[in-house]
Amino acid sequence: MLEIKNLQVKLEEEDKQILKGVDLVIEPGTVHAIMGPNGSGKSTTSYVLSGKDGYEVIGGSATLDGVDLLEMEPEERAAAGLFLAFQYPVEIPGVGNMTFLRTAVNAQRKARGQEEMSAAEFLKVVREKAKTLKIDAEMLKRPVNVGFSGGEKKRNEILQMAMLEPKMCILDETDSGLDVDAMKLVAEGVNALRDGKRSFLVITHYQRLLDHIQPDVVHIMANGRIVKSGGPELALEVEQNGYADILAEVQ
Ligand code: ADP
Ligand code: MG
Ligand code: MG
Repeated sequence: MLEIKNLQVKLEEEDKQILKGVDLVIEPGTVHAIMGPNGSGKSTTSYVLSGKDGYEVIGGSATLDGVDLLEMEPEERAAAGLFLAFQYPVEIPGVGNMTFLRTAVNAQRKARGQEEMSAAEFLKVVREKAKTLKIDAEMLKRPVNVGFSGGEKKRNEILQMAMLEPKMCILDETDSGLDVDAMKLVAEGVNALRDGKRSFLVITHYQRLLDHIQPDVVHIMANGRIVKSGGPELALEVEQNGYADILAEVQ
């Protein structure tokens, strides 16, 4: 279970507070969505959870199954079961996708005190997962993300997610947005990886993604706080009326 309590965060370089007391509890096996106007602190929330540089936690806590995430290095957070999708869209010329995935998986296993996966075992697992996710095995042989289309990059991120078997996946659909096809791919991947224990936090500015991923709980973030939470109908309300009504109501 992910438990965020009164999380307050400022920029490291500037005297600017971005998160002003975020409270969020995500139970195992549930899908939560965070929506909200631009600049409300959605991406900052995901960055702080993943341990990105540049942010200073000035109050509150964030734990995964009772373990303090905020004290950990990013690799330790991954080992603890946290996965931030769209965190590795980088192209790595000269490094085969398969090698990259295996290195990531084995680094995580090592941090968990588990034995490395053998090349043969890895190959078997990655082929199975690629098949389940309808990913062409040919993509596994190519250098990481080099010359990948937007859709292929998304598929690859979903494959990374599948291989690392996280407990808690955070997906941030950046403001640049995904096109409809890429969005469907992401949604299919998420739906394929839902299993009753794994949880998802889907961050999105628009309602569109939630047409394809049915969330259990929808939160609205504004000005560094979660100001309203509800069921999937909250996303539809935003789609129809925008944020103005909700924000006026909670002022
Ligand atoms: P959202 O994802 O909801 O659009 P962000 O978390 O990206 O919002 O940003 C929240 C606010 O913090 C915005 O006002 C943004 O300009 C500011 N912000 C976030 N990160 C930085 C940064 N590294 N430098 C300057 N301002 C930042
Ligand atoms: Mg933004
Ligand atoms: Mg954002």
